[in-house]
Amino acid sequence: MAAVLIDGKKVASDIREGLKKDIETLQSKGIVPGLAVVLVGEDPASKKYVASKEKTCTELGIASFPHKMPADTSQSALLQLIETLNNDPKVHGILVQLPLPKGLDEKAVMNTISPMKDADGFGPVSLGNLMMGTPTFIPCTPYGAIKMIEAYNINLEGKHAVVVGRSIIVGKPLSMLLQMKNATVTMCHSKTKNLKEECLRADILCVAIGRAKMITGDMVKEGAAVIDVGINVNEQGKIVGDVDFDAAKERASYITPVPGGAGPMTIAMLMYNTVQAAKMAAGMEVKF
Ligand code: NDP
Repeated sequence: MAAVLIDGKKVASDIREGLKKDIETLQSKGIVPGLAVVLVGEDPASKKYVASKEKTCTELGIASFPHKMPADTSQSALLQLIETLNNDPKVHGILVQLPLPKGLDEKAVMNTISPMKDADGFGPVSLGNLMMGTPTFIPCTPYGAIKMIEAYNINLEGKHAVVVGRSIIVGKPLSMLLQMKNATVTMCHSKTKNLKEECLRADILCVAIGRAKMITGDMVKEGAAVIDVGINVNEQGKIVGDVDFDAAKERASYITPVPGGAGPMTIAMLMYNTVQAAKMAAGMEVKF
């Protein structure tokens, strides 16, 4: 039986729609939520992601403050810009597009973004809060994955979730969020032995590796829910995920497409975090 398609575009659209009321309330107080987007260098994929984040801001009535810097920008110039943005009251969220060009220290950059403006949720305070279960900015891609799971009423309690990939951007925070929803979580990575066996144990299989079709259909348990975070460009120039979608959908109960799954959700959750940051700055109640 073919799986139910998890429509990330639709869930993302519902989340954006839900933000409009908050944005109007902020505007009635004379506040326009603002997101500063810092792009260093000319990486084509990064430029594309930044452009779509700016477009979504504009559509929603969020002010976007783009800062484009050359690839040979010094660490001190980048940190200085972040300090300026930290102190700018019009800027509620700060996003530095990753990866940064070689020679720039991503951890130092994340350490410098004010925890009150950490719209991407990659800073040590946000990640520490997440670990402690304190409401906080949650990294947008894992946050979006959980929101899709919730939107389709996929039960996590007591279920076995397997997360393939352990990056700070996706795998680690997603594992934390899944266990906070009472799933039993296994994290896999490049040194995992018997990846296929581990994946076959998954009621919920979440994949963030960065390798096209690495997860084949025979690695998916019958009836599993599959969340594919991967974005890869195949030999035909087509965007594909980390999961062999055509084969996996015949065994899964639910599956996210690529594109149209995790991608739109990531941007929606960035908007969500930015609006929460603006509400926090205005002393309003926030919800994560
Ligand atoms: P990273 O390269 O930071 O992490 C990849 C992870 O995959 C690592 O933990 C690595 O293990 C693991 N891995 C690599 N090879 C294997 C293997 N053979 N078997 C098992 N695990 C393996 O990538 P990201 O987490 O940043 O991104 C992952 C994917 O998600 C990419 O395709 C990226 O483009 C996409 N992505 C999509 C987003 C969206 O908006 N939809 C947002 C962010 C990312 P180890 O730690 O041992 O090296």
